Amino acid sequence: MSKAEVSLAHLFRVFTKPEGKDSKLAQIEQHLSDNLADFLSQHVVTKARSLEDIEQDFSDPHVPEHPEFVSEHADALLKKLVSHSVNTYSPTFIGHMTSALPYFHLPLAKLLVGLNQNLVKIETSKAFTPLERQVLGMMHQLVFGEQDSFYQQYLHSADQSLGAFCSGGTVANMTALWVARNKALPADGTFKGVAREGLAAGLMHYGYRHLGILSSKRGHYSLSKAVDLLGIGRNQMVTLPCPSQTLSPEQALAAGKAFEQKGNKLLAIVGIAGTTETGHVDPLDELADVAKELNCHFHVDAAWGGATLFSHRYRHLLKGIERADSVTLDAHKQMYVPMGAGMALFRNPNDSNAVRHHAQYILRTGSKDLGATTLEGSRNGMAMMVYASLHILGRQGYELLINRSIEKAKTFAALIDAHPNLELITAPTLSLLTYRIHPGQDISRACDDTTMKQRNGVLDRLTVGVQKQQREAGKSFVSRTRLEVARYPGQPITVFRVVLANPLTTEQDLRNILDEQLSIAQTTRAWAELTA
Ligand SMILES: *Cc1c(COP(=O)(O)O)cnc(C)c1O
Repeated sequence: MSKAEVSLAHLFRVFTKPEGKDSKLAQIEQHLSDNLADFLSQHVVTKARSLEDIEQDFSDPHVPEHPEFVSEHADALLKKLVSHSVNTYSPTFIGHMTSALPYFHLPLAKLLVGLNQNLVKIETSKAFTPLERQVLGMMHQLVFGEQDSFYQQYLHSADQSLGAFCSGGTVANMTALWVARNKALPADGTFKGVAREGLAAGLMHYGYRHLGILSSKRGHYSLSKAVDLLGIGRNQMVTLPCPSQTLSPEQALAAGKAFEQKGNKLLAIVGIAGTTETGHVDPLDELADVAKELNCHFHVDAAWGGATLFSHRYRHLLKGIERADSVTLDAHKQMYVPMGAGMALFRNPNDSNAVRHHAQYILRTGSKDLGATTLEGSRNGMAMMVYASLHILGRQGYELLINRSIEKAKTFAALIDAHPNLELITAPTLSLLTYRIHPGQDISRACDDTTMKQRNGVLDRLTVGVQKQQREAGKSFVSRTRLEVARYPGQPITVFRVVLANPLTTEQDLRNILDEQLSIAQTTRAWAELTA
């Protein structure tokens, strides 16, 4: 590869904005978008190359001495990186929660990078700060449905905030539990509050042995990261088994009381609106009652399922979410926004003050700087992408997308259910379902527990084998997980997991994916064992 000269003149050129449509940079840009469009029209994996092999392209630990020309570097990226990326836009990529995006985000992304606003502080963002606050207000209204006068009072208030925009559901969950922790151990008499004095002093002052949080076993692993970071400790997570996939309010109440009888304080109950593994929604309304009875914070993790609220037809599935103290939403999942768009919303606009932070050179008291109540510091203007999506699609547009995904999941579930060699494991509540290939189901139905345990072992092998082979073949992608279901008590099983998000996925695509899986399965030893 030829090297650019090392000179200030060259570096200035890199920083200078291109002149006109025919500039070199404009040509490079055109070249890149052509290649991207080409890539996105192909299979999930375009070129079969092993990860180890790809690692060879990224194994030099030395910073290059000499600058490269942008055009040549762009070509290198196309060759080494783009061609071996995963085509998450493919209609047969149905394995994960982040996938295809509307194309208008590409030109909008240029605006975002071009302006490079930093939302930590008004001095570096100006109009982006009010925009972000409006986005938080719109999502707050969608979830909590307060009166217009409420939003007039709080949307742009310097002393309160309706939520915190952040990079994703993980940071949103951390933010919400951070607020809950600080609210649980507030200043009192000589004690200046946990934020100032630390957890040990807080527990001592209030006479608690531990703080803890309660959720079902389907809680996202970001919750355990959060309790670790907040000094609460992973052992203090009360996670209840849920063979029926949702948290039982009765069991939650009993477990919460038992936890507190040991001298502990339950910090929060976390209800999940759309679990990552099966897409189920906890009984939020009943859990709100339990939280009230235990006098603790009620957090709803709606990172994935929250967008269901756009749908008049299905929003009832999340009934009770409006009673949460805090709610996590990920716009980069079912709101089709590029990654980096999470939100923690607070029903009470004063709650964010539990974590308010000031610094002299930045975040001065009384300012409207968003950084004062966010966990993250420098942040880009991702809220603009949410703002644009909300306008370009509108609530009705989102409703169409959400309804279509849910209905497609139901169709897919029916296909699976009707097939003699497929077993639907969890039916879709929203647009996520799990299933497995299960030949010899009549044999399974007739056998005892011990034999079924053995057969489940063979079935697990079959699922893992098929999932890997299908992924490596590169035409389609379905993920897998391991969970316990009521049908096989005490026996966690491995299952295929499907998230239907891409509006372009057709019923025929889904049929093809099943056919491919079945034909792979029939060549395995496990299949022979199960049907013998
Ligand atoms: C995806 C997800 C998260 C984590 O969100 P990130 O954006 O990946 O950090 C948390 N909770 C649930 C229920 C999720 O689906």
